[in-house]
Amino acid sequence: MDETRVDETRISRRDSLLKLGGLLAGGVAVGGWKVADSLSAGEGPEAVASGLVSCVLAPEQTEGPFFIEDQKVRRNITEGRPGVPLTARLTIVDVSTCRAIRGAAVDIWHCDAGGVYSGTTSATEDDRFLRGIQRTDAKGLAVFRTIYPGWYTGRTVHIHVLVHIGGNVVHTGQLYFPDSLTDAVYRRSPYNRRPNRNTRNAADSIYRNGGKRSTLRLRKSSSGYVASITMGVQRS
Ligand code: FE
Repeated sequence: MDETRVDETRISRRDSLLKLGGLLAGGVAVGGWKVADSLSAGEGPEAVASGLVSCVLAPEQTEGPFFIEDQKVRRNITEGRPGVPLTARLTIVDVSTCRAIRGAAVDIWHCDAGGVYSGTTSATEDDRFLRGIQRTDAKGLAVFRTIYPGWYTGRTVHIHVLVHIGGNVVHTGQLYFPDSLTDAVYRRSPYNRRPNRNTRNAADSIYRNGGKRSTLRLRKSSSGYVASITMGVQRS
């Protein structure tokens, strides 16, 4: 990995917390990164159900076994991995007000076209491809350049996401793709070298728990796609 590039400032997760924590006050700093798992998922939907707000709380979903701390702040996370180009446009809003949240750190990671995560096996332990952090702008938007993820056994196609604000992980989730689009993408190289993915959205045990609300909107863009979603989060 080239760590000298200006746009790839390597920051540790704790450093990022300290730096980003100053941008947005509020919330009580807590130790550990599993805090999002303990958030009450009921509060947000109730607020939405009150009719006062129209944004949707992004469902909490497991971080899974392939999270790695210490990611780079960088927009382009491909590191040359082959695949169909994907621009991910992730907008973070406060679920109680629907207002954009500026300065949130959005951390994403996903497997490559062959279903492999960087940093998880002896073959990839020093790699960090398809992992990175971006901070949201004034419109709450974080943009990543990546590739359409591949698949691995037992899971439907997904991108993992963590959002942290002011010292708290405020959202742990997964982002999904329409199966029909995945079918089309997987007919292309290099995905077509691994046909017969074995789990689609409806059969995925994690997707079933709210994944529909975390399905990306996709539109074609030159040779690839732009994937967009707005995620409502609770600040603390
Ligand atoms: Fe995963």
